[in-house]
Amino acid sequence: MKGAIVFLVFFVAMTAFTLLYADLPPGRQIYEMLDVPETDYPVGGIPATVLIMSLFNGIVYGIIAGIVYSIAMAAKRRRNESKNEVASTEQKKFCINCGAEIPESTTYCGKCGASQ
Ligand SMILES: [Zn+2]
Repeated sequence: MKGAIVFLVFFVAMTAFTLLYADLPPGRQIYEMLDVPETDYPVGGIPATVLIMSLFNGIVYGIIAGIVYSIAMAAKRRRNESKNEVASTEQKKFCINCGAEIPESTTYCGKCGASQ
């Protein structure tokens, strides 16, 4: 869900940015690959070619931002998970009598009943 918001933010930002700096790659390159003649025909006051290149850039940068965001989130989740594993192993201790693994908070071993 948040990835979609990141996409949208970058889509709008990069589309607007390309309207100011039309040469920002790869919008123009994609447009040229389509083999469509450039036109200054205005759409909403903006030349159609510039508008289309802007939308290409918005989509491309939006997708890149979305992918980077989801990779970063996945890495963060993994880090949190491994942190929890460390925390849960730290909360264990071993019986001084029989060596059984027992919770840190307990005062008696659940296996042999020895006081800790
Ligand atoms: Zn024990």
